Amino acid sequence: MVVNCAGQWAKQVGAMCAVTVPLHSAEHFYVVTGQIDGVNRDLPILRDPDGYTYIKEEVGGLLVGGFEPEAKPWVAPDQLPYPFEFQLLDEDWDHFAILMDSAIKRIPALAQAGIKMFYNGPESFTPDNQFILGEAPELRNFFVGAGLLFACKLGTGIGFLGREAVEQARAAGPRRRLVSLVLDDPAAMIWGGELVLRDGVAVGQLTSGACGEAVGGCVGLAYVRHPDGRVLTRDAARTGAYQVNVGGQLYPATVHLRPPFDPAGDRIKGRYPLPG
Ligand SMILES: Cc1cc2nc3c(=O)[nH]c(=O)nc-3n(C[C@H](O)[C@H](O)[C@H](O)COP(=O)(O)OP(=O)(O)OC[C@H]3O[C@@H](n4cnc5c(N)ncnc54)[C@H](O)[C@@H]3O)c2cc1C
Repeated sequence: MVVNCAGQWAKQVGAMCAVTVPLHSAEHFYVVTGQIDGVNRDLPILRDPDGYTYIKEEVGGLLVGGFEPEAKPWVAPDQLPYPFEFQLLDEDWDHFAILMDSAIKRIPALAQAGIKMFYNGPESFTPDNQFILGEAPELRNFFVGAGLLFACKLGTGIGFLGREAVEQARAAGPRRRLVSLVLDDPAAMIWGGELVLRDGVAVGQLTSGACGEAVGGCVGLAYVRHPDGRVLTRDAARTGAYQVNVGGQLYPATVHLRPPFDPAGDRIKGRYPLPG
């Protein structure tokens, strides 16, 4: 049995077995405002289907996103870059204007709220906006779960297909963890794709890498596994001697389970220490 839940790559994965998965990626936008008086965590999520928007509380401000009637297509399905985790696309205020104008009509206070962040990421859409879930008509035992648009939240208590399996997996603990690795040698350069070793054993590879000026060396992101395939505890992930193989040479690296530059997420939420 095969389950194809490869997100926006599901069309490519389906094509490997001659199964058609009609999906196309489009750019999906939302913004997060600064704090707004009266906004608190208990506000319900607001959907305005006529205005194409959704609005919800985010760290005392509002997150404003939507699904505009004229989507902005991203690259063709057979040209999707892979991997593409944790990456964003460029801002496009002109395209976002229809959503922002509509949201301001609904919530005038938005006009005065400063925009803290603009997010644009690719999201895959089906021709009728319905998700594709179930066995492919062309091939028995080939199942597809794609075009979902929104993921599910365990914390809501709302039922969804697969909740039991997700709860069991969560109770068992993760078999891989996302870590940041800062290379000790500031001269070593990484690009993504490099092998990661822990105590001399291969445990993963960098999904992306870049120069981290604020942390004094290159920073890479990697999913690392337990070498025996067991559950990887936080303690196990943060111990051991890490190395990254850059062009055949092994460079020692320091592992972080939280982003090394902003571990508590203070900067991203605009919480800077007060002067003096
Ligand atoms: C900017 C933005 C904001 C969003 N905000 C929200 C939100 O607030 N709430 C919400 O619920 N949803 C949100 N979403 C939508 C949500 O992220 C997606 O609906 C959800 O991630 C889709 O899950 P998925 O498992 O189908 O696909 P993905 O999360 O894309 O997972 C697909 C996986 O398949 C893997 N894969 C692909 N090809 C292969 C291959 N050949 N071999 C092995 N593995 C492969 C990929 O590496 C990836 O890990 C947002 C999306 C965007 C872009």
